[in-house]
Amino acid sequence: MRQKKGKMSDKMLKFIKIGQQNPPKRKVPNRKEDFNEIYKDFIEEKAGEQASRCSQCGVPFCQIHCPLSNNIPDWLKLTAEGRLKEAYELSQSTNNMPEVCGRICPQDRLCEGNCVIEQSGHGTVTIGSVEKYITDTAWTEGWVKPIEVKNEKNQSVGIIGAGPAGLAAGEQLRKLGYQITIYDRYDRAGGLLIYGIPNFKLEKFVVERRTKILEKGGIKFIKNYEVGKDVTLDQLREKHDAILVATGVYKAREVDLPGNNLANIFPAMEFLTASNKKGLGDKVKLFDNGTLNAEGKDIVVIGGGDTAMDCVRTSIRQNAKSVKCLYRRDKKNMPGSAREVANAEEEGVEFVWLSSPKEFIGKNKIETLVVDKIKLGEPDDSGRSKPEIKKNSEFNIKADMVIKALGFDPENLPILFNSKDLQVSRWGTLKVDFDTMESNLSGVFAAGDIVRGASLVVWAIRDGRDVAESIRKFLERKELKTSKVA
Ligand SMILES: Cc1cc2nc3c(=O)[nH]c(=O)nc-3n(C[C@H](O)[C@H](O)[C@H](O)COP(=O)(O)OP(=O)(O)OC[C@H]3O[C@@H](n4cnc5c(N)ncnc54)[C@H](O)[C@@H]3O)c2cc1C
Ligand code: SF4
Repeated sequence: MRQKKGKMSDKMLKFIKIGQQNPPKRKVPNRKEDFNEIYKDFIEEKAGEQASRCSQCGVPFCQIHCPLSNNIPDWLKLTAEGRLKEAYELSQSTNNMPEVCGRICPQDRLCEGNCVIEQSGHGTVTIGSVEKYITDTAWTEGWVKPIEVKNEKNQSVGIIGAGPAGLAAGEQLRKLGYQITIYDRYDRAGGLLIYGIPNFKLEKFVVERRTKILEKGGIKFIKNYEVGKDVTLDQLREKHDAILVATGVYKAREVDLPGNNLANIFPAMEFLTASNKKGLGDKVKLFDNGTLNAEGKDIVVIGGGDTAMDCVRTSIRQNAKSVKCLYRRDKKNMPGSAREVANAEEEGVEFVWLSSPKEFIGKNKIETLVVDKIKLGEPDDSGRSKPEIKKNSEFNIKADMVIKALGFDPENLPILFNSKDLQVSRWGTLKVDFDTMESNLSGVFAAGDIVRGASLVVWAIRDGRDVAESIRKFLERKELKTSKVA
């Protein structure tokens, strides 16, 4: 490992230590060159130092709590010994996008939260940062290679959705030699990795180099192509030997309040997509004319999950005049990652806890939010304290733009796909056999958020890998049947 060259400020030490890529308030290096140039030596030393802190405990709780069962202790040991290529090989053998998970997994709830050193009060090994470092190095060194298929197969799989579930499944099946076509209604591959999660958490070049290398490995991407509009599910079933539905969940939950139709009240995805497209260099009319740009405005974000945190932190980076986050429960009961809330607070976001919007007021566009104060009552069916409105507690908040980040539900796929027989659960997620991940339609499988409901990237990757295995078995059985008939 190289020796540290420059002296780091306390703030900088802190941000590296907690495994984030964003340095203190508003000084965010958005470009990869800035990041690599400024921090390379320091990160290299820190990764080795962190990796060597792993106690190699008998029961690897970190691995047990990683949805991909990543072999964390072993790749930490290899990193500590400076054997980075081997560490990379091991890490990528269980994860299709380690550099993505290293950046955006809520590690405090998964691997790092269960690190024995963390449990004993000495601060976790920053597993995510090391995972990111190993794979970023692999990309720089040219160790990440396109898939080389030795044995091309005639059977083909059509995948609907180029998010992490579809991409992981596509990669696993392509490695086995199947012909893979991924259809997506967006103009870019990556799903929420590209247009949902902001650049300051996951730089877009990281997503684009992944999808490009998959394309080089023979996966065909058909973009701007919406199943339901450009083709029906049945037509795709005719075309391919198996289908994977990995369409995610995109129906934004609504607040049905007076004044909801005023201008400048937006769903979170509209705001985040505009910002991400801008970051990718696109012309975005509604951003360029100021409509979807937070600069100089008083912004109010409604919601307490990770999407809300992404909206408040994006607003800060767009130089909003003020940013408030309205949440009906208290800090302890926030659904979002505690780390994300801490980041937002540090960056200057004001949290208005125990508050619920009552009415939007303005002439044509939003000007004021009328808000009720909330008290937490007895636990409801879910076991969480029920928010109850405090009588006569109403107050006003000035707002130039309101962003609604209340979560997502599945779209109505049987209607959208023109496939009324496709069975869904009472929540609208696709019904699958949990052993095979096959839907009620033969040869139609599903994975990721469209099965789980809004979840995490790491779970989408896990589902993608599992469903690929099921599809392989299905295709082998199909092949066997065909050869018997012939
Ligand atoms: C704002 C935001 C921030 C998040 N931050 C994090 C985070 O920090 N860490 C984390 O682990 N998770 C995060 N998540 C959750 C994570 O992004 C998702 O769980 C994950 O992307 C789900 O993967 P997926 O492949 O199932 O679906 P998606 O990523 O949603 O991909 C689905 C794809 O299907 C395409 N599609 C949909 N319908 C059709 C159709 N009819 N025809 C063709 N294509 C179609 C879509 O265009 C999309 O590209 C975040 C989510 C949001 C919304
Ligand atoms: S994939 Fe996520 S949970 Fe698993 S080791 Fe990496 S950061 Fe931790």
